[in-house]
Parts: sequence; structure tokens; C-alpha cells
Amino acid sequence: MSVAASTSAFRPAARLQRIKPSPSTLAAQRVRELKASGRSILDLTVGEPDFDTPQHVKDAAVAAIAAGETKYTPVNGTPALRQAIREHALRTLGVEYPDAEITVGGGGKQVIFLALMASVDEGDEVIVPAPYWVSYPDMVRANGGVPVIVETTADAGYKITPDALRAAITPRTRWLILNTPGNPTGVVYTEAELAALAEVVAENPGLLVMSDEIYSEISYTSARAASLVQVAPHLKNQVLVVNGVSKSYAMTGWRLGYALGDPALVAAINTLQSQTSSCPSSISQAAAAAALSGPQDFVAETVAEYRRRRDVAVARLAAIDGLSPLTPDGAFYVYVDCSGLIGRRTAAGAVLADDQDVTLHLLEDAGVAVIQGSAYGQSPFFRISIATDLGTIEAAADAIADAVARLGEAD
Ligand code: PLP
Repeated sequence: MSVAASTSAFRPAARLQRIKPSPSTLAAQRVRELKASGRSILDLTVGEPDFDTPQHVKDAAVAAIAAGETKYTPVNGTPALRQAIREHALRTLGVEYPDAEITVGGGGKQVIFLALMASVDEGDEVIVPAPYWVSYPDMVRANGGVPVIVETTADAGYKITPDALRAAITPRTRWLILNTPGNPTGVVYTEAELAALAEVVAENPGLLVMSDEIYSEISYTSARAASLVQVAPHLKNQVLVVNGVSKSYAMTGWRLGYALGDPALVAAINTLQSQTSSCPSSISQAAAAAALSGPQDFVAETVAEYRRRRDVAVARLAAIDGLSPLTPDGAFYVYVDCSGLIGRRTAAGAVLADDQDVTLHLLEDAGVAVIQGSAYGQSPFFRISIATDLGTIEAAADAIADAVARLGEAD
């Protein structure tokens, strides 16, 4: 007997209608489809390390399973993980975070979402400097807030300036989201720049700063990117430091992130956590504790490799007429200004009107998948990921150069 599918009883909630799926997830889906249809695609969309998780971290997870650490843990994480986080923060930020100031979750992404959920009321404003990580505006909207996008300029190194921050603050402002090293630009704020922003934060005691430091260890300027709380420890209760093990330790699939800050905010996040996932995976917590407290050679080795790839990618893309890549100081992306391609014609006669067109052209004509700048709130750009092997990066640069050479001049 065949049963006809019933019509859907699902009625999307209003909050769902405010947001859209992550463009990077959509791009990854498109690449999978093209590959499944037999096309060979050089994929530069991925936002995760191509390296495997370090062996001692995997061993710690296996040992946790063998020891029966397979049950719910405290909402704010196992004592071992909290100790590892506390010691890591003291070592890297020079700031003490007692247990009541530490929360853990299923990735930095979940912690950011819950922090917004805990603090943003309908109509509250969240300042998001552009270019931004794709998820911030939608996470704000999903929680009833209003993202206030502040475009940055090439002159200011694509960083928000104290004046721009001051001008964006209103009585409804709850948060500034600061991402350093930044995705997609690779921008790293210097200590002096952070100190100047800290003055504005201090002038506004009702302002919170979400300091997203998920790429903190992946820095090409110094051993580690500076943090706002490091340069202004007196603002500890206004700054929520968000970090995790995904990027620095190649542990994206383990889903483990954490945040450090005001105990009242941390307690609120823990309450939400207790009513959503109860706690992150006990196994992942054991692995993360090993990553944070164990040997750090993996970080140094992978950062050296990213730096090699960065240098090649930037040099190769800069040599292509019409493209100007930003040289990232951290993270593992290169943000490429493609304004020189806007207005040019494809062999089929279509005009490249914006960075979405450029991205589609690179996918169709060069077989190279990148993500359009409009997804990050600043155009015309596209983002490539260098979390892929050097051979793929070189082949992609060659294919992009050929595809650009086939374009006709602008009218
Ligand atoms: N913040 C930024 C800027 C990111 O790019 C990402 C991941 O792409 C995250 C946070 C979230 O990382 P995770 O949830 O894996 O910890």
C-alpha cells in the first residue's frame, strides 16, 4: 500500500523567518553537488583546518571512554577542562578566571549564540564591524536584536576605529562584536588599537564586547594575537572572551568552545545551556583539556605551514590583473578585492556585475569554489581558505588566472 505524503504541518516561527542558512554551509553544499555530478572542483571554501587532530588529543579521548567518562558532566564543564581553560587563559591572557567566570559549550558558535540569547532583548542593537563572520548578524536577528553593521575601510586596515565605534553606540547598544584575528580578512588588532577601543568601552559601562578569539593562536605577526582583556584587564566584566579548540587544534568536529567573563553573564549562559544541551560531550571535554594543557608544538607547526601557504596565495593572486588580496596577519583566509573584475564580460557575454557573479564565474569557468564578499558584508571581494594543501592553492591560482585572462574588457 502506498501512503501519500501529508502536507506539512510545520509553520516556521517568526524568529526563523528573520534568518537564512549560513552562506558557507550553502557553498559547501554546492561544491558537494558539483563533485557528485563528476566535475573536479578546487575547493577554497572550507573554514576548517585540513590537518588531523593531534594524536595525544585523540588518545585522551580514547582514555576518557575507557575510564567510563561517558556521562553528563556539570553544565559548566568537567573540573579538568575548567582547570585547563583557566591555566590557558592565565598563560596567554595574563588574567585569572575563577570557575564562576568560565562557561563551556558545543563550539564557540553555540556559546556566542547563547550569550546573545541571554542578553539581547527585542530591538537591542549589536555593533558588527564589516567584513564580519557570516553568522554574527543572523545570530543577532535570531535573538530579536538588530545588527548595526559598521563598514571598515582599507585606510583603517579593515578595523573598526574608536571614532566609528563611538558614533555607532546608541542607548540601545548591548554589544560590540570584535573578532581578532578576523574571519574573513585575517586582520589582527594591535595592542595599541585595542587600548584605544578599550577607552571607548570604558566610557560606556553598559556596553559588552564579544571578543571572538577563536583564531587566537593562528597569528603571523607575533606568537599570539593580543586580546582586549589583556590590554585592559580592568574591563574584564565588560568583555566576554570566546575561544575554543576547533581552529587552533584542528578539532572542528569535536564541538567544544568556551567563554570567559562576567560571572552574572556566565551564570545566565549556563542556565540556557542547562535547558538546551545540558553540557558538551564528555569525551570532547577530555580531548579539549588535553589540547589546551598538553604540548603546543602542533600549533607552531601548523601556523608555519599556514604562513607558507599565505605567502604563496597572496603572491599568486596579487599577480592576477584585477585582483588585490589583503595579506592576512592571522586566521587562515585571504580576502581578495575583485573590484578590478567588475564590469568585465565572460566569453558568453555576461557582465560581472558584483562579487556574486565573480564567484559564480570562478566556479563555472575555473572550477574554483570561493565565497563571495557580500556574505561577509563588504563587496566586491571574495574569500579563499588556505586551510588546504599548497598544491590545491597553486592549481586554483593558475585556474583563476586563466579564467580572468579569458574575460573581456569592461565596456
Ligand atoms: N568565530 C569565527 C570567527 C569563526 O570563523 C568560527 C567558525 O568558523 C567560529 C567562531 C565558531 O567555531 P566553533 O563553533 O567551531 O568553535
